[in-house]
Amino acid sequence: MTLARIIGTRNTRGVLHIGAEILRNGGSAIDAVEATVNAVEDNPLDQTVGYGGIPNLLGEVELDASIMDGKTLKAGAVAGIKHHKNPISIARKVMEVTPHVLLIGEGAELFAEVMGFKKCELLTNRSRKIYDAFLRDAIQELDESFNRYKKYLEQYIKNYRLREWYEKLTLKHHGTVNVIAIDSKGNICVGVSTSGTALKLPGRVGDSAIIGAGNYADNRYGGAACTGRGELTIRLSTAKSIVNYMKNGLSVKEACIQAIKDINSLNEIGGVSCIAMDKNGNTWAASNRRIPIYYYMDIEMKKPIELKGTLIQAK
Ligand code: ASP
Repeated sequence: MTLARIIGTRNTRGVLHIGAEILRNGGSAIDAVEATVNAVEDNPLDQTVGYGGIPNLLGEVELDASIMDGKTLKAGAVAGIKHHKNPISIARKVMEVTPHVLLIGEGAELFAEVMGFKKCELLTNRSRKIYDAFLRDAIQELDESFNRYKKYLEQYIKNYRLREWYEKLTLKHHGTVNVIAIDSKGNICVGVSTSGTALKLPGRVGDSAIIGAGNYADNRYGGAACTGRGELTIRLSTAKSIVNYMKNGLSVKEACIQAIKDINSLNEIGGVSCIAMDKNGNTWAASNRRIPIYYYMDIEMKKPIELKGTLIQAK
C-alpha cells in the first residue's frame, strides 16, 4: 500500500487539502487531481488559471488543460476553451469518453456542451481592467479603439518585433496550476490547467494541453508537470523527459534538475519550472527562474507543507 499524497504548484496552497481529503477517503488520484485543479480554476483571484484568467491579445480568455492517468497511460486535453471555467474536467471527459486525446476551440466547446458543462463568461472585471490597462500602456500613441489596436498588432508582426515582445511577456505574465497525486493503489495522475501566457496571440496553445510537454504520468516510473514558457517545454517534451530520466535510473530530484538543464541549453528567454513525483511518492521541483516552491500533503497530514526544490540558473 502506498501512502497516498498530493503535490501542487504555489497556487494550490489553499486548496491542496481538497485532493488530500479525497485520497484519505480512499478516492482515486484522478478524482483528487481534478477536484484540486477545479478549485484553482474557480478562483477569480488566480489570474493565470480558469475563471478570471488574463485574456489573449483580443481580450478573450482562452484556457488549456490536460490530465493523464499513469495506470492506463490514457490522457485527455483541451485547448482554446473560451466559455467554460473548468477545462480540466472537460479534458477528463475527453480522456474517458472519446477515442481522442486533444480537442481544441469550437469542437472542444461543443463537446463540453454535449457533456453537460455549463457555459460562463470567463473574463472578470478584474481581468478586463488589466487588459484595458495593457491596451492603454502598449498603444500610447494610438487611441484605445479596437481596430487601431488590431492594426498595431499587424505592425508588430510585420516588423518581426513580436518575438521580442512575447519573450518579455513570458518572463512575468503567466502561470499554471500543476497537481500530481498518487493514491493508495499506487496510481499516479497529473493535471495541468492554465489561461496561458497573458496577452498571447489568439489561438496560441501552450504546453499545458500537450501531453509529454506540460504533463506526463506513468505508474511504473512517476509523473511530472511544468509551468513557464510552454514553447520551450513543447520543444523538449519536458514532462515526458523527466519521466524517462526516472525510467533510466535517475532519482526524481536528478530528473527534474536534468530537465531544467536541458531547458537552459536552449539558450532562450523564459522561465520554466517543473514538479515531479516518482512511483514511490518521492517528490521534487526545479526551476531556472527562482527557487521553486511547491506544496505537499499526504493523507496523514492536516495541512500542506511548503517544500523547496532546486534553482538551476541559466548561464
Ligand atoms: N506553461 C503555460 C503556457 O505556456 C504558462 C505558464 O505556466 O506560465 O501556457
